[in-house]
Amino acid sequence: MSDARSKVLRAVDASKGELIRFLSELVKAKSITGDEQPAQELVREKLRDMGGTVDYWRPSAKEFTGRESFISEERPFRRRPNVVARFGKGCAKTLAFNGHIDVVPEGDLSLWKRDPFGGQLSGGRVYGRGSCDMKGGLAASIFAISALQHAGVGLENDLMVQSVIGEESGGVGTLAAILRGHVPDAAIIAEPTGLSLLTSQAGCLMFRLRVAGRAAHGASRYLGVSAVEKFGPVMGALLALEKKRSTARRDQLYSGVPNPVTLSIGTVRAGNWDSTVPEELVAEGRYGVWPGESLGRASSQFEDAVRRAESADTWLAQHPTSIEWYGPQWESAAIAPRHWLPRLVESAAKEALGKAPARGGSAGGTDMRLFTNLARVPAVIYGPGDDAVAHFSDESVEVKEVLAACRVYALAALAWG
Ligand SMILES: [Zn+2]
Repeated sequence: MSDARSKVLRAVDASKGELIRFLSELVKAKSITGDEQPAQELVREKLRDMGGTVDYWRPSAKEFTGRESFISEERPFRRRPNVVARFGKGCAKTLAFNGHIDVVPEGDLSLWKRDPFGGQLSGGRVYGRGSCDMKGGLAASIFAISALQHAGVGLENDLMVQSVIGEESGGVGTLAAILRGHVPDAAIIAEPTGLSLLTSQAGCLMFRLRVAGRAAHGASRYLGVSAVEKFGPVMGALLALEKKRSTARRDQLYSGVPNPVTLSIGTVRAGNWDSTVPEELVAEGRYGVWPGESLGRASSQFEDAVRRAESADTWLAQHPTSIEWYGPQWESAAIAPRHWLPRLVESAAKEALGKAPARGGSAGGTDMRLFTNLARVPAVIYGPGDDAVAHFSDESVEVKEVLAACRVYALAALAWG
């Protein structure tokens, strides 16, 4: 191993205590989507202390008009600053580390054994909401740059940290950074992948169905039409569509995933009185889109499936279900697995950790699409933490994995340099 590389890795290992303290502070600085300010202030201070050129700004809703395929964000931006820091001369090729600072709400407190915003270190893990998704990856990327500085290795090219708001609600922070001109030449998204290297991302649409019925007194329900019962054939058609779509393709990157394009009905509401036949049922859910598949193609398959089911039912044929695509729309994204960017991260991982990372694709939406589809720059997803514990009670991340990611980021940045 070259002298510079071993110096950088030693600097990463020496920063372990400080890195974990910073991560714990980030978890304590609660930053649920919609109020990310406390954690962003911490990030800004850290990046300033490191000598970065820091841009700290609040986006405005006006910027996003006409960007519906990338974003749908209605929350005000008063307490939602974005942070981007550049390290270098500002005129060279730039590698960005991108991480979202926002976290989902803690949910039912009684299911937590630890304080969701305590940032507690226990048994080699840091606990709390956002520890895994994805303050661990964000902290690791910041400390990777700090390790390069401590090792005293100068880079010809630039590095960037993007600490962004609103990923959990559609990616408004990364979108705002790109629209403001913070467009790197390549990006590593530090989402939790369990240190697997992901080169594609499935997309996702949110749907709302309104199934019509006709109200009647429950005692004479034969006079009415139950929207709950009429939802039956519609739901059956959607489950059949999910099955058909999940087996319609073979993608090596998703070989370990039972279904990369799930259709999940998340909420169902119907009726307004227990002895009245429900006159309407509203169902909402998410609908997965294959990498490379357009949102339009996916949505028309969905609509066709509903219409076909309705044509076999006299009531539904006359009272078609309303289908609305609402909220964030996550386009899918992909780069070639043999592209130079994943190869750069792969060789950094081989050197830093002694083995090549597993390859794969993300079944969930990420900000990757904003880089590849909007900014037209390559991006990969690679970070510490098991995605299966993200968004759950007692969310945590292993210290060892955060440090491992930091080693890989540092060597990737050095190779970029
Ligand atoms: Zn995330």
